[in-house]
Amino acid sequence: MQDDWSLNPNVRKLLRRVPLPISLPTPLRRGLGRSTATELLGTRAVLTHLRDSLDLALAQAVQHAGAAVTIADPAGDTTLTGRIVDGGGQLVPATADLPGGLLAAIVQSGASGDRRPVTLIHRVTRPHSSDLAVNETTDALLAVGHAAAQLPANSRLLLVIGPDLRGDSLAGLMTAATQGFARSAFKELGKTGSTCHVLRVEDAQAAAALAAFLASPRAAFLTGLDLLAQKSLAGDAADRPALEGKSVLVTGAARGIGAAIAERLALEGALVWINDIAQSQAAAADTVAQIRARGGQAEFIAADVGTLTGAQAIADAIGKGQGPLHGIIHNAGITRDRTLRKMSVAQWRQVLQVNFGAMHLVQTAVTPLLQPGAAMVLMSSVMGISGNFGQTNYSASKSAVIELAKQWACDGYARGLRANAIAPGFILTDMTAQMPVMNREMAKQLTALLQPGLPLDVAELACFLIGAQSRGVTGQVLRCDGGMAFGA
Ligand code: NAP
Repeated sequence: MQDDWSLNPNVRKLLRRVPLPISLPTPLRRGLGRSTATELLGTRAVLTHLRDSLDLALAQAVQHAGAAVTIADPAGDTTLTGRIVDGGGQLVPATADLPGGLLAAIVQSGASGDRRPVTLIHRVTRPHSSDLAVNETTDALLAVGHAAAQLPANSRLLLVIGPDLRGDSLAGLMTAATQGFARSAFKELGKTGSTCHVLRVEDAQAAAALAAFLASPRAAFLTGLDLLAQKSLAGDAADRPALEGKSVLVTGAARGIGAAIAERLALEGALVWINDIAQSQAAAADTVAQIRARGGQAEFIAADVGTLTGAQAIADAIGKGQGPLHGIIHNAGITRDRTLRKMSVAQWRQVLQVNFGAMHLVQTAVTPLLQPGAAMVLMSSVMGISGNFGQTNYSASKSAVIELAKQWACDGYARGLRANAIAPGFILTDMTAQMPVMNREMAKQLTALLQPGLPLDVAELACFLIGAQSRGVTGQVLRCDGGMAFGA
């Protein structure tokens, strides 16, 4: 699949000379190939707070992943700071509650003119002042935002809300203020390819693994996420997906996003069961051949996921093969866009059945094969959150998918099963190639990153959600949309 035209260097050179009312995107720094333990090599990380085990877990996670770490906390715990300095980090104390101080510390954290991306990790703390609105916590948001706005391209701002900021009305207000701040900040940061997320933390290890992923080039197209890092009954979160010896089913994987996910999972060592309808046999054979050519393992199962017999055929094939199953990506999906006046019963039912009903059929059929700790990813869409003209059937199905992910997460929690929904925005595939040119260009201008995503962007997120790195993430909706204005 081709990159977007506005990222072509020659086109960009030309457009800079012509005064057109369009903003050009910053090329994103993406991860390539199999994941490594040092995804953050060549980047810096700056933490505004180092006072407890959560801060230490975050600092160590980014340090172990290869980032050059700077602690900017003037009142940081000296024992904890010592551990980061021993690991090669540095201390550049800066007062984070006034604009300017933090930026000076970030500048000092590198050599002059250092353009390495920075992950700025800010722990949102409880204010000492009794003023609800103007206090150290809200002032620090401005200081952090001021610094983030001047970071090199492809930087990250992670706003961390720890377990201490919970349980009373003041904590609730500061959390809400931070979330509102982040929802605007990511829209400003996107033009330089930088992103911003909120992490609400119940479990420090889960938060550390999540922070390392969001800071990495694997998460280049994700922005504006607001996630909860929980304790998982399946064990601690790891620093890599760790899919060797696991088997994962991907539905609708002959082409597009599903094929990219299958290829990405196989690269991490998983045996991938590639499902699609029989008519897509040729495309599926290509995907299987590409995976095998790179030394991966893949098998094709021809079946229509929208039917009971199709779902059962999938379970039979996996059961007869090398089952059991450690993960499922419920990805198959279709569009039959029509306005309400023109929509037929067949178009309405077909979309609901393939996009949503099929997930229930397949899940029920393969449940006996699912291993404890298995993870499910359900493909929704931003249109399931915001709705869209001419897509009532699609939006209804994709909104129901989000609720299904929450219900499965709840039902499976005690068995260590996890379920999350991905809501892609505008991704370059055959499905979106059918969109009129003007709509495609408008969709890009409505994202914070000013560009469409690639199937690989969704694949990176799916791989993260299936693997051990995301053990503390369940029952959540993760937009993969470059910060689309719709519904955000
Ligand atoms: P795609 O290129 O059309 O691929 C979808 C695949 O699913 C196709 O190979 C399709 O086969 C297959 N499929 C359709 N009906 C099936 C059935 N009943 N049983 C088994 N397989 C079936 O679409 P995509 O863009 O990769 O989208 C993948 C998922 O992401 C979908 O759920 C979609 O709604 C969602 N999504 C995509 C975007 C985007 O921008 N691309 C945005 C939001 C959400 P045929 O092609 O032969 O029909």
